[in-house]
Amino acid sequence: MKIQILKKSNQQIKFLVEDTSPAFANALRKIMISEVPTMAIKYVEFEKNNSVLFDEVLAHRLGLIPLTYDEKIYRLPDKCKCGGKGCSHCQVRLTLEKKGPCVVHASDLKSADPSVKPVEKNIIIVELLKGQELKFEAVASLGTGEQHAKYQAANVSFRYKPSIRINKGKCKNCFECVKVCPKGIFRKDGKTIKLHNVIECTLCGACTDTCKYNAISVSGDEKNIIFTVETISGLKPAQIIKKALKILNDKSVELKKAIK
Ligand SMILES: [Zn+2]
Repeated sequence: MKIQILKKSNQQIKFLVEDTSPAFANALRKIMISEVPTMAIKYVEFEKNNSVLFDEVLAHRLGLIPLTYDEKIYRLPDKCKCGGKGCSHCQVRLTLEKKGPCVVHASDLKSADPSVKPVEKNIIIVELLKGQELKFEAVASLGTGEQHAKYQAANVSFRYKPSIRINKGKCKNCFECVKVCPKGIFRKDGKTIKLHNVIECTLCGACTDTCKYNAISVSGDEKNIIFTVETISGLKPAQIIKKALKILNDKSVELKKAIK
């Protein structure tokens, strides 16, 4: 198995895995989506809230704010030494106190642990008018996408590596494919066509549908798979992949033991 990074940013990683299978790719995808733990607000106790939003609506909004966390400190509550009762290794308190008129942002949350904070400061929680007040204490903990969608670590998709062939004998150089390809893969090069950045092909079939001479064939290679991992949580894309691989490895070890 070979891995090649195609694109990398703080938000997203695109990588090619060669010599693999759709089954393996899907196992990894599902773990990244539903089993990698992330931090989110679990419950909220309101002391004051006369804003336009009900407590339940506000609590829901707060739960959806992605929070960062220190991997070395926090564990899932059901795997914590406290047995899930709540301690400094599985819970963190966040408080907020604001008086209107103002707009309350995620950055107004005060966390008991500096490693736990909103990924985006500018997420709007609610707008308070004159005389309105908001005061609450919230508890955040780790959870997985399996338990609730708010804990989903990433959006993950994969596709087969594209392969495009032009039959030079059939091609009449009409350049229709150049016009229709949404990714600009077909390029006019003098009197012939050249392929450019084939890896960007989404197998949409616009070229094969347009070509009157059946000169183009496009296919996806099941053994070479391109992953796109976009974080929607407090974890970086690389952290999500590493964690997912560890979970997959642990599952394999467990299965091995069970078989023995
Ligand atoms: Zn604990």
